[in-house]
Amino acid sequence: MPSSPNYAERRAKLRQAVFETKKPPGALLITSMANLYYLTGFTGSFGALLLTPNAERFLTGGIYATQAQYEVPDIQLVLNPTLKEFNETLAATAAELGVSVLGVESSTSVAGLKALRKAAHKAGIRVEPVGMPVDKLRRVKDGFEIARLRAAAALADVTFEHIQRLFQPEVAEWDIAMEIDFYIRRQEAYPAFDTIVVSGERTALPHGKPTERRLQKGDFVTLDFGAKLNGYCSDLTRTVVIGKASTEQRKLYYAVLEALQRSIDAIRPGKRGKQIDALARKVLDRHGLAEYFGHGLGHSLGILVHDGSGLSFRDKQPLEAGMVLTVEPGVYVPDFGGVRIEQDVLVTESGCEPLTHAPVDLLECEW
Ligand code: ZN
Ligand code: ZN
Repeated sequence: MPSSPNYAERRAKLRQAVFETKKPPGALLITSMANLYYLTGFTGSFGALLLTPNAERFLTGGIYATQAQYEVPDIQLVLNPTLKEFNETLAATAAELGVSVLGVESSTSVAGLKALRKAAHKAGIRVEPVGMPVDKLRRVKDGFEIARLRAAAALADVTFEHIQRLFQPEVAEWDIAMEIDFYIRRQEAYPAFDTIVVSGERTALPHGKPTERRLQKGDFVTLDFGAKLNGYCSDLTRTVVIGKASTEQRKLYYAVLEALQRSIDAIRPGKRGKQIDALARKVLDRHGLAEYFGHGLGHSLGILVHDGSGLSFRDKQPLEAGMVLTVEPGVYVPDFGGVRIEQDVLVTESGCEPLTHAPVDLLECEW
């Protein structure tokens, strides 16, 4: 395993995908921060990468002058003068490289595209969206990324273990959420998204925010959190019961667990995300619970916590080895409560391997 990612190799692959096509643009402009990080290692919040078939430029502002030299030492740096519009510097740099058609990521905002077009037009350059070539590359993770995703998943596991001492009556949802966030940050990581802790009937809110509500005996408690460690995210959900579970709670829990396990068993290269999603729905339907499963089965994980296509009715492309996905069936019954269980998995040549290892069996918490 190399000690740092081979950014130059990633850019070479991107070049091949973009410039070795029938009607390639003269250059490709990357401005999404996740894509910049993937292609260069830059961790700032503002910059751009300009690639032509045989030249590379990294552009940013004075605030990142030193950081860019340190993080992106292998690409010629262009610093935007303090009192100049960044788009003008971009257009001038592209013009210097002889570019007449500039390709941009299709995720560029309408306002961003309009401003860039205006500046490029003055420099005699046409701007055209060229799809999402970097996002496509990021679908399948390389060995370096998989190692980082494993570490982020392991941190989520130990965080869950750490938090269990708070599963007792009178502890507030908010305090559990704070302890999760504090623990993750103390391991030199960041919460990958706003931590969800909901209890009692509030577990029927799939994305509920923690409140001052205090846990009570007989509550379901759902926690959904993740760690962003060294640039890569994990995402873990567990639902526990404070004390003994009721018959209804057990029924709900084991239906969701069956949907989770059947889905994980079915994941392998060649299957389509939507097929796995449909399978989970079928399992829940047999338990009369499909109508309470109101979201997709899972998403890609990577630099972003929602890192692209995954396991939903929209995902028609075949899965590939090296994809890292969440599998997170859930049922949410209004005025009663809900259960979600979420695992992170790596698609392998023959199936998939769970990256999260916190137990999935129903946890009935004694204190
Ligand atoms: Zn989650
Ligand atoms: Zn998730």
